[in-house]
Amino acid sequence: MERLQKVLAHAGVASRRQAEKMITSGHIRVNGAVVTELGTKVGVHDEISVDNVPISSEAPAYILLYKPRGVISTANDEKGRKTVVDLVEDVKQRVYPVGRLDYDTSGLLLLTNDGELANRLTHPKYEVEKTYVARVTGIPSNDAMRQLRRGITVDGEAYAPAKLKLLSTDHKKQTAIVQLTLHEGKNHEVKKMLAAVGCPVEKLKREQYGFLTLKGLQTGDARNLKPEEVKELR
Ligand code: URA
Repeated sequence: MERLQKVLAHAGVASRRQAEKMITSGHIRVNGAVVTELGTKVGVHDEISVDNVPISSEAPAYILLYKPRGVISTANDEKGRKTVVDLVEDVKQRVYPVGRLDYDTSGLLLLTNDGELANRLTHPKYEVEKTYVARVTGIPSNDAMRQLRRGITVDGEAYAPAKLKLLSTDHKKQTAIVQLTLHEGKNHEVKKMLAAVGCPVEKLKREQYGFLTLKGLQTGDARNLKPEEVKELR
């Protein structure tokens, strides 16, 4: 279930703020009844209308994108930078990203117009495992590895234990490749965790999201999820 104003905004009826005004001023009906309460939650099966005109119910879209670096993970960017939605222009539905990857992070990002699923997947309780591969400056010590596996607190924020593998080291260049699996989805978590143990991230890629991988995709490619994949995500 999602808040009515968010659904209206995602359906392209108006901005979130304008949608709130439309609700409080009695323009919106849910299943035939006028709703003026801003906290009202609606599901995919509820019929919503604006001044008695039903909002278009779009077919659900589920897209797996191999996000390149240098693209922003929002639907719109105030600074006019290229967004992940610009990369899937041929998709007619109004999709938006499930969670975020940093501007300079590449890898697996889901896009959908199914707000209910997106909310669930980004809820900490749902604990989708995400696997990242990072190139870091410095070689993580055994103690650093232990700290990350145990869970680390950075600037008062606690990060849950990470599954961790040291994939390779280059002692001459003083760099290493590390694989981390996390399930929290906090802002900049991989960068913060690795920086906190003295190994700042040079390059970051998300290789896996739950059971989904980037197999068969090149950077910038996108594909629709298969119906069975959508079912498994639910
Ligand atoms: N952690 C980060 O630091 N950045 C990302 O983009 C994703 C996870």
